Amino acid sequence: MSTRDTIVAISTPPGAGGLGVVRLSGSDARSVAEGLLRFAGGVEWKPWTAALAELLDEAGNTVDQVVVTYFAAPRSYTAEDVVEIACHGSPVVLRHCVARAMHGGARPAEPGEFTLRAYLNGRIDLPQAEAVHDLIAATTLHQARIAAQQMEGSVSRAIAPLKAQLVELIALLEAGIDFAEDDVSVASSEQILGRIRPISLGLSKLVDSFRFGKLVHDGLTLAVVGRPNVGKSSLFNALLQRDRAIVTDIPGTTRDTVSEIFALEGIPVRLVDTAGIRASVDVVEKLGIERSFQAMADADITIVVIDLAREVEEEDRQLLRRAGGQGLHIVVGNKADLVADVPGDLELLPVSAKTGQGIEELRRRLITLIAPDGFASPQAGLITSVRHELLLKESLESLQRTVNAIDFGLPHEMLLLDCYAALRPLDALTGATTADDILNHIFSTFCIGK
Ligand code: GDP
Repeated sequence: MSTRDTIVAISTPPGAGGLGVVRLSGSDARSVAEGLLRFAGGVEWKPWTAALAELLDEAGNTVDQVVVTYFAAPRSYTAEDVVEIACHGSPVVLRHCVARAMHGGARPAEPGEFTLRAYLNGRIDLPQAEAVHDLIAATTLHQARIAAQQMEGSVSRAIAPLKAQLVELIALLEAGIDFAEDDVSVASSEQILGRIRPISLGLSKLVDSFRFGKLVHDGLTLAVVGRPNVGKSSLFNALLQRDRAIVTDIPGTTRDTVSEIFALEGIPVRLVDTAGIRASVDVVEKLGIERSFQAMADADITIVVIDLAREVEEEDRQLLRRAGGQGLHIVVGNKADLVADVPGDLELLPVSAKTGQGIEELRRRLITLIAPDGFASPQAGLITSVRHELLLKESLESLQRTVNAIDFGLPHEMLLLDCYAALRPLDALTGATTADDILNHIFSTFCIGK
């Protein structure tokens, strides 16, 4: 794959739309575009200015009226010459436009190649490129905000000072070794440890931010479980604030699990409504029960629903025990509208899926469970990528080995090896030393035209 070719792709989603954009990038972008366009006011190529033109077929007939924008290198998305042709969004017209561009010498772009070029041309670093993908994939505004921050370089900005301190430490150790005979004082163990500490602390904080960053990025799964007819589906709908699961009076009708996504403070939550859990001989019902336990095992958080209008039975208690043993959960007493007072022996949140009583409080409790420290405004340097987390941890471990080496009184040459080992993952993270296969892996997850 040559990075010198001029590339072309449809950058808007497939299908018909009001507009569809074909993007060209490379040194021949303008000349290729000239081969398929007729400009209303003659060819001018004023950068960063929209111009009206006609898109032509092979015979010179007009097939669309388009708006053409030229972004001159290096002030463009890819840092190369970019021409964007905004057509009316007919798939045939867009495909024709691409075919004509290819006829004129452009090559179809690989997935993510526009962003790859922006990276290879040094306009953005790797975390910024990865954030482009996240921004496009965002399902909540909160995700988009975090991705936009990362596109601005928040990840690298958070890492840069730590990396600089590490490089300084390496320089100090190197100098101590190189000039040992020239009386350059070798740093003391305390000095070295004193320098490692803030780096480790900074890296740890970033690694910790992944706990929340992962939620923002991947969302979480919430299972709603309870005996048949306690009101799981109704509660599910109350949380979703629209009708999704079918509500009925016949116990055990929600045999399969149903799932929907809703946003809780910008975190996408996949809500799984499970079949009624009941000690039953009914085969289908039994399958449902197994699914419920499975859903609980797979869920990040479980909501156990108890029917306040009925006696608490052994099954309820079994369910509570199971949830308690499995981690984060909230116990909800539903149908609070039917009872005068709530039994005191169970610690539960009274709600009514019917009247909406307690639903807001339930949302609040969920938020507290998810983010005990509160939802700060998007933090600077929030880590949302598994790749970043792994590399940060790797760096942190190498630093820890450095500390151990000092404790063992090992020579500075040995410490240096660990320091370099701590530096490498940081380089890989921000893209300074990234192998091709990693690049391929990252950019192949993009779609074509991005
Ligand atoms: P599931 O089997 O646990 O999913 O229960 P459903 O959501 O299908 O509800 C079973 C029955 O209880 C339906 O008739 C609902 O209308 C009713 N129901 C659900 N929640 C409430 C509530 O808070 N108050 C009252 N009075 N009825 C409810």
